[in-house]
This record gives sequence, C-alpha cells and structure tokens, in this order.
Amino acid sequence: MGTTVSRVALVTGGSRGIGRATAVGLAESGHRVAVLYAANAEAAHEAVALVEGAGAEGLAVQSDVSDTDAVDTAFSSIEERFGPVEILVNSAGITADGLLARMSDDQWDSVISTNLTGAFHTTRRAIRPMMKARFGRIVNVSSVGGHLGGPGQANYSAAKAGLLGLTRSVARELAGRGITCNVVAPGPIDTDMTSDMADEWREATNSAVPVGRFGTAEEVAGAITYLCGDSAGYVTGALLPVDGGLGMGH
Ligand code: NAP
Repeated sequence: MGTTVSRVALVTGGSRGIGRATAVGLAESGHRVAVLYAANAEAAHEAVALVEGAGAEGLAVQSDVSDTDAVDTAFSSIEERFGPVEILVNSAGITADGLLARMSDDQWDSVISTNLTGAFHTTRRAIRPMMKARFGRIVNVSSVGGHLGGPGQANYSAAKAGLLGLTRSVARELAGRGITCNVVAPGPIDTDMTSDMADEWREATNSAVPVGRFGTAEEVAGAITYLCGDSAGYVTGALLPVDGGLGMGH
C-alpha cells in the first residue's frame, strides 16, 4: 500500500448528484476539493460543508464549463487558494431530450457544449501544470447512453460517446507525463437528473438492469475516486461502467 498524498482536486458538477458524492469521496481520501457549479450556490455550499465534514478543505467555485474564459477564471481562483489542480473530475452535465426530428439547434448545442466541450475546456486548462508536475488524474463522467444510444437523446449520447474519444486521446498524449485519463460510464443513477422520470420508465429501466435497480451517486463516486488515486497510475484510457450490468462491459 502506498501512502496517501494530499492533492488538489476539482470536481465540475460537484454541487449535486454524482459530482457531490465524488467531492466527498475525494475529501475522505484526504484531498482538498474545489466544487464547481453553474447556478445552484446553495447546493454547492452544502457540498463544501460535506467536504469539510470529511475533514478536508473545500471551495465552491461558480463557473460555466461551456465558456472558456469562465473556466480559466475558475482555475485561477482555485490555484490562488489551493495551488494547481492535480485531480480533475468532469461530472458537469445536462440533458435536453427530444426526438431527433424535433430537436432544436439549441437543444443540440447546449448539451454538446456543456457535456463534451466543457470537458475539453477544463482538461486543456488543467494539463499544463499537470505536465510540469509530471502527475495528473482526469476522470470524465460519460454514460451507458454513450454506447447504447437512447431514443430522444441523440445530443446526449453523442456528447457522451465523444467523451470516450477525448479521454483516449488525452490518455495517449499524456501517458508519458504521469497523467492518466479515464472514463466512468454510469447507468441509471438516482440523482436530480433522473428524479422526474415517469414511473413506467423507471420500472422498465429496473427490469432492463441485471442488478434490478438504479445505482447511487456514491456507487459511481467509488469508481471515480479509485481512478483518481495514486495507486491507479497504471490505468489509463479505460472505460469503467458502473451500470448494474446494463451494458455488460460494453
Ligand atoms: P445532476 O444531479 O443533475 O447535477 C448536474 C451538475 O452539473 C450540477 O452540479 C450542475 O450545477 C452542474 N452543471 C450543469 N451545467 C453546468 C455548466 N454549464 N457548468 C458547470 N456546471 C454545470 O447530475 P448527475 O445525475 O449527478 O450527473 C452527473 C454526470 O453524470 C453528468 O455528466 C451526467 O450526464 C452523468 N450521468 C448521470 C446519470 C444518471 O442517471 N444520473 C447516468 C449516466 C451519466 P448546478 O448545481 O449549479 O446546477
């Protein structure tokens, strides 16, 4: 077993759901955690309180991952408080579902720019200091939908599939610098994102998932936290499904 090094972590979408559970998991591992959120300041401050409750320093940072300048400003404020980001988790995401024939440009663009371009913005901003330090951990939160597709989710599935290509290119480019980049692909998880799902869809989902239920944010966070650890240095370019067997490893 290696000793645990305290590092600086940034979790986008850290205010709620999977990102929040990951922020807490990283705090429990002894890291300082910046929680990046879009608009929900109250949720972000609750997440920081949980990080602090786990005995770590936390920082709430408002930003829009789809905006290059806003991402740069967010990183600068984290660097000022904690130093360079060593662990980056891209969990910020939205849905704007609709059948393709009726999907607007705005539905397409908003999902691609948050869920895919957002990860490009944060990763590009993070890697220079990581390269200098010859250490970095990047985890992108994709979805089983990126592999299986989903009716009404052409925008979302395309963005989530795109994250795999981004991840594997980053993994190849930066493996020699001590930086790993991996993807976690959750199945249906109980968070705000799935809370307004109709009962019949929920039941259909439960019967499609071999484990027979929705997962918890903590179950996804456990996989992400593992990939962020020093001990995961030989894991890069990997896709780790956390989906109750829905994709059977894709
Ligand atoms: P969630 O509970 O809806 O939380 C979404 C998070 O993303 C919030 O923290 C939100 O900030 C943040 N966010 C949204 N747009 C942003 C932007 N433009 N800039 C910065 N932050 C932004 O979602 P979740 O269920 O935890 O999902 C987390 C990730 O897992 C997403 O990428 C999602 O696609 C993926 N995923 C989820 C499921 C599932 O079933 N839940 C399944 C597969 C994959 P605010 O709090 O300020 O709004």
